[in-house]
Amino acid sequence: MPCKCSVTPCRGNYYESNQVAVFSFPNDERLRERWLHAIPKKDFNITKNSKVCEEHFKDSEVLLNSTFSNEKTGETISAPMKRPKLKENAVPSIFPGCPSCMSSASAIRESPSEKRQRLEQVQIYLAVRESLNSKREYELKTMFTNFAEFQNCIKGHSFSSFWIVVEKNENMLFLNLSLKDDIPSIKYAVTVSNDLMLITSFMGERISKYEKVILPIKVNNLNEIFDILDYFEKGTIVESESSLNDKIHVIESVIKNAEDIFNNKNKFFFEFFLEQLHLLKCKPERNRYSPNMLVFASLLFHMSPQAYKFLRIFHYMILSDPNTILKIGTILKNSPQTEEYTNFLVYCKHAFHGFKDDDLKVFLMI
Ligand SMILES: [Zn+2]
Repeated sequence: MPCKCSVTPCRGNYYESNQVAVFSFPNDERLRERWLHAIPKKDFNITKNSKVCEEHFKDSEVLLNSTFSNEKTGETISAPMKRPKLKENAVPSIFPGCPSCMSSASAIRESPSEKRQRLEQVQIYLAVRESLNSKREYELKTMFTNFAEFQNCIKGHSFSSFWIVVEKNENMLFLNLSLKDDIPSIKYAVTVSNDLMLITSFMGERISKYEKVILPIKVNNLNEIFDILDYFEKGTIVESESSLNDKIHVIESVIKNAEDIFNNKNKFFFEFFLEQLHLLKCKPERNRYSPNMLVFASLLFHMSPQAYKFLRIFHYMILSDPNTILKIGTILKNSPQTEEYTNFLVYCKHAFHGFKDDDLKVFLMI
């Protein structure tokens, strides 16, 4: 319990329920004399424990918060002090319970509990305002309008070892490396270019979406970048949330890279895979098949409709609807079912011979 009030009959700080701020007598002799003169107590002997509580001062003489001006915004910001302070040259003037000295101010004074309640509200208000101010200051610190400001903003921020930060004149890169057989490759990359566009990639392929954000995106706040970095660091992008198209895109690029390594003999093998991957991306009703694939499908269907259905229904392959195969036969005015298998191959070769690739596609689509 802090020191009790020395003014009789005041009970400031005598009980838990009556806690008030107390002030020591001033060191300035003239001011101290004025205090002694004001306090209605004869032969007041001042010791270091002599205190006068806030109840004896006008509200305007008790300072609850310190204020300072923000040079940047010109706004005055108040912050509550840990302990109330007295205004310079303040002299106690209110002494309830002492009729001879009761000032006019004390007559309309609020009760101690009312005052406490009011001061509590002031404290809450100031605390809320302070937190709003610091939030705004924080936001101002994280915002930028051009690349130079962005570089300035990001200075001093440390990143987890997950990211390697590469700062260049034209962009800033956040790279995550993965090691395979001791050979490093870039797994995730987040690039902020000097026009503040943010693009991301996974295994060398652009990512078009992150959660509900369509990428690339123009950024003007560090938090937007930190969110994306966090998101990748948690490693959820490819494993669970990236769209099917993004995943297929990654596989396609791997196959295309592999295609370069193998010689031309395997060309159709890769083409076949790429076509199947492409079909995977399309809605079934929008599927378009290459001529080679349709020839293959026709052959397979007529040799063994059961095998065809098996592959198709159990999703071993994406194959056209059997009706499409039958339609092709009708258009060609030739039912392959009546042909011998060997004749059918001759028939296919004959039917498609002489068509250019594009003509074939158009014809088969019809
Ligand atoms: Zn008092």
